[in-house]
Amino acid sequence: MTDNPFARPSTLPFELPPFDRIHDSDYQPAIEAGMRQHLEEVRGIAHNPQPATFDNTIVALERSGQLLDRAATAFFNLNSCNTDPQMQQVEREMAPKLTAHQDAIYLDPALWARVDALYQKRASLKLDPESLQLLTRYHTRFVRAGARLAPQEKERLRGLNTQLSSLTTTFRQNVLKATADGAVVVDNVAELDGLTPVQIGAAAQAAAARGLKDKWVIALQNTTQQPLLANLTNRKLRERIYRASVDRGLSGATDNRGVITQIVQLRAERAALLGYADHAAYVLEDESAGTPQAVADMIRQVAPAALKRAHEEAADIQKLIDAQAAARGVPSFALQPWDWTFYADQVRQQRYAFDQAQVAPYFELEHVLHDGLFYAAHELYGLSFKERKDLPVYQPDVRVFEVADADGKPLALFIADYFARDNKEGGAWMNSYVDQSELLGRRPVVANHLNIPKPQAGQPVLLTFDEVTGMFHEFGHAIHGMLSNVHYPSLSGTAVPRDFVEYPSQYNEMWAREPKVVEHYAHDYRTGAPMPPELLAKVLAASKFNQGYATLEYIEAAQVDLAWHLIDAAHAPQPVQVAGFEAAALKQAGLEYPPVPPRYHSDYFSHIFAGGYSAGYYAYLWSEVLARDTGQWFHTHGGMTRENGQTLRRMVLSRGRTEDPQVLFRNFYGRAPDIEPLLEYRGLAGGS
Ligand SMILES: [Zn+2]
Repeated sequence: MTDNPFARPSTLPFELPPFDRIHDSDYQPAIEAGMRQHLEEVRGIAHNPQPATFDNTIVALERSGQLLDRAATAFFNLNSCNTDPQMQQVEREMAPKLTAHQDAIYLDPALWARVDALYQKRASLKLDPESLQLLTRYHTRFVRAGARLAPQEKERLRGLNTQLSSLTTTFRQNVLKATADGAVVVDNVAELDGLTPVQIGAAAQAAAARGLKDKWVIALQNTTQQPLLANLTNRKLRERIYRASVDRGLSGATDNRGVITQIVQLRAERAALLGYADHAAYVLEDESAGTPQAVADMIRQVAPAALKRAHEEAADIQKLIDAQAAARGVPSFALQPWDWTFYADQVRQQRYAFDQAQVAPYFELEHVLHDGLFYAAHELYGLSFKERKDLPVYQPDVRVFEVADADGKPLALFIADYFARDNKEGGAWMNSYVDQSELLGRRPVVANHLNIPKPQAGQPVLLTFDEVTGMFHEFGHAIHGMLSNVHYPSLSGTAVPRDFVEYPSQYNEMWAREPKVVEHYAHDYRTGAPMPPELLAKVLAASKFNQGYATLEYIEAAQVDLAWHLIDAAHAPQPVQVAGFEAAALKQAGLEYPPVPPRYHSDYFSHIFAGGYSAGYYAYLWSEVLARDTGQWFHTHGGMTRENGQTLRRMVLSRGRTEDPQVLFRNFYGRAPDIEPLLEYRGLAGGS
């Protein structure tokens, strides 16, 4: 271990991991040594001859496991965004061991006795509010991890956790492989009609990267819908790409159906063991939503407006398809999912009279980053950003920025990893390498990951407005991590419930379309000219377009997630029944509408079968209610001002989980959440 890069805290600024010194062979020894060290520390705490105090138990736990934390955090972050076969092997071996390690701590009777004793006399401990919250969270975590179970039940729980850990790893790796393998190879460039030269160049580059000569490759994105379907005029190719997307995880070595049925069965069994009706009840108890019923109610509340609008959108599209067929004197056809975005884009062009090619030059990555994301963060919170090219990165595309606070003091490091790679998981996300905490004297190091197709060398990176919004979204998570100002590491930054964590990110999306911000970043990269006001007005109006589809595909996925996690272990379906189960769940909830498939089908729904979002996919919509309410608050308080930004920072963004998140929101907003601003924002309110 002596020359292992994780052996000691990093000496780089902000304890940035020494990416240039980390080798694949370093992870496993560091994680294993970290687990041993952590267990020794925890045993010392559990068997301390002194009676339990807040300091010698809870604070001591907060200080423990630092080697493990350094190594495992870097490993899992990099395994998501820059993996290779050796890292995947480490993941397969380490995931069940890490699960067992967690269990060894949370199921330790001596440690539990101390935590419980402190919790029972919490009123007499004279703790400050943050410390009391920390004690409460530890107690809850122990109970939910099974600390109260009898010894043989604990044994069974350990077994279930280990099996689940292996299965979710298998699921993730299957999706990654099926997505890469599912890329569609095109032999003739004429088939790519409708793509821009930059998009065709990217497809040629993707083919070259796979060693294919004179071919073009359309790589798949993680969602059911594939962005390029909006542009491709060749209907057969659209269908081929769509089918490649939905067929992922259905056959061969990456068939995920058996993995799914085992996962849901074991989760149901674990929930029963812990005393819950089902996995959803277990998960939701610790979320803002509280119960599966509350989630089902929210889906039911939004469904009619989403369905109604989706049907209207489909009717507009069908009219266009019919008209075009009649004009050409060919038979028309019924709208299919692979037609939707292609024709929706044309409806959008007719209605708002602009197309992506017209706006693309105004959404160039550097402008969006500096004059959009960084600009809004400066106006609202006083932050400023300076690129640090002297710091090591794990991949040449990755960039590091040092962030200074309003008073000029160093606040955080921000890592921007924006381009798609075959060895990167799909979608977009934020993660943290170092969590802010006063106790450990640490300032945050956070990262944003997106999958923007990388253009050929020398070409500008031109984004769609959706990608711009995605950048603001992930940056909202980053800001939540960077503005954290708490004492204890485990209450820091984004360590909040899942149905709250998407609140700061979705709130931050609003700045992407706020006129004062767009006017600042949307400049033609060639001339510097601002976007003409009439085009900007159209882009903003069009941002409410197609929200019937977007909302419906999302709540369908949320419903599928909920249904999988309401079953009991005795009634888990067979692998061949997976598609049928999903269809029945949608039908039962009145959400079945074939032109609008779920945003993810079960077979590649990594959020719920590999990530941490099981029974939690609804969380985005739940959080969005808070986000849109906050948008309304800004607009009724004078918009984008430092004073408003500081208020949100002080009351929510800096607070991590030092208080019940619902209380943080209520104190800020002045009342309970209200669904109307969300419907308004999505253009689904009333008859609009
Ligand atoms: Zn997010």
